[in-house]
Amino acid sequence: MEDPAGRVWERARRFPHYRELRAGAVLLSHAHMDHCGYISFLDPAIPVVCTAMTAYLAKAIQDAGAHQFEGEMCYAVPRIAGGDGTIGAAPAKDFPFERRPYRLADALPQDPYDFWNLSPSSERGRHFPASPLRTADEAAGLQVRFLPVDHSIYGAAAVAVRTSAGWVVYTGDLRRHGRHRALTDAFVRQARALGPAALLCEGTNIDRGPGASEEAVFEACLEAVRGAGGELVVADFGPRNVERLLAFLEIARRSGRRLAITDKDAYLLWAMHAVDPTIPTPAGEAALVVYRRALLRPDRWVELVREWFPGQVTAADVHSSPGEYILCFSFFDVTELVDIDPDGGIWIYLDLLVQRAAQRGAAVRAGPPAELAGSLPPAASGPGRGALPLPLLRPHQRARARRADPGGGPGPGHPGPHDPTTAFRRPAARRPCGAHPPRRRTPGVLMGPRRIIHKTAHQDTCMTIRRLTSLFGASPPA
Ligand SMILES: [Zn+2]
Repeated sequence: MEDPAGRVWERARRFPHYRELRAGAVLLSHAHMDHCGYISFLDPAIPVVCTAMTAYLAKAIQDAGAHQFEGEMCYAVPRIAGGDGTIGAAPAKDFPFERRPYRLADALPQDPYDFWNLSPSSERGRHFPASPLRTADEAAGLQVRFLPVDHSIYGAAAVAVRTSAGWVVYTGDLRRHGRHRALTDAFVRQARALGPAALLCEGTNIDRGPGASEEAVFEACLEAVRGAGGELVVADFGPRNVERLLAFLEIARRSGRRLAITDKDAYLLWAMHAVDPTIPTPAGEAALVVYRRALLRPDRWVELVREWFPGQVTAADVHSSPGEYILCFSFFDVTELVDIDPDGGIWIYLDLLVQRAAQRGAAVRAGPPAELAGSLPPAASGPGRGALPLPLLRPHQRARARRADPGGGPGPGHPGPHDPTTAFRRPAARRPCGAHPPRRRTPGVLMGPRRIIHKTAHQDTCMTIRRLTSLFGASPPA
């Protein structure tokens, strides 16, 4: 960082917890944000060592991210200090992006760094100084080995470092219930052969017991999609979980649908395909298509996705033929349902429900656990409607739910605490709400969902829907 007045560091040194540490390199196990998110706080000169897939994923995530300081994993917007000691972004036309040196622990990507050197900026003048990638088998003078493991993101690896005390092995995040579990088993054998002096083990979910296997998840979702008939299906799973995305691609093929992915996922697949050509993209896969958002000013990376994959589907396409698609959406895409305006359908909200089913020891295929079964509306008990799908209620079902509960339940934005049977309804009237001041309505902009009424069996989804209902708390009646 340019600091002509020298005041920024002068002030920083006065903080009681200020320490000067020298880091020779960062060993990055995989591209999940809880592992790479705060690389932005490190000196941009410190090299990052990781697999080629992790490097490309990190760049794709940053390119298509929120352009925040916290997300600057691969390249940084240069900052300069003002005369008064404050920090600001350097002028775009004078300062190119500052690239972090990445070293690849496995092999160079298949593409000649095209994606790596692709500038995502729509800001005039801010460009990438082209730089080649190199491989490395050492970091800060120490021998390192990256050992691939099975995890919910591609490119994940454990790391072994040869120190003066012997090999030190760090597992990174790993699992044995995915489709690539053989990688984890191979890592265990390799780590054992090193006779490590120490093992650093991640253990975020170590007390949760065995999860459902990806095969069981696949079967349950296939059954749910087949049971949806001609209605809309939304598949909601963890971001960048491409293994699940590919599972839904196969489900789409088998159920005669096409998988419609967001532009962000399409950008991600493009990056991954550059490293591993076996990763499909909408360009070479008929059952895979990009959902085109209606954007007033698309970012440059969105424009690139439109160039790469021109045959996209719109909300109107999905509305007229809902049974032709499976939409890969997350909570953040839920507003698209306003444009799609589906007449019923199911929202498959995967991660936590699968986890819970596994915790209960219930086979995922066996349908909802007993305590959830009663809370699902009648539509969910039909053939193929298991524990996983959360139905989007149609108006007549909503009316039926209302008749069953004439008290009306809690008000908008205030569902009962952790009540899995809470019915969420669009506000009947725009009564004032102390916690959420009414939003100003912009003329001509539809702010309220019309038929997006959820009845849900999960507390986390309750929170999601609570946010949604509070967002739309002052929406105009349909
Ligand atoms: Zn992870």
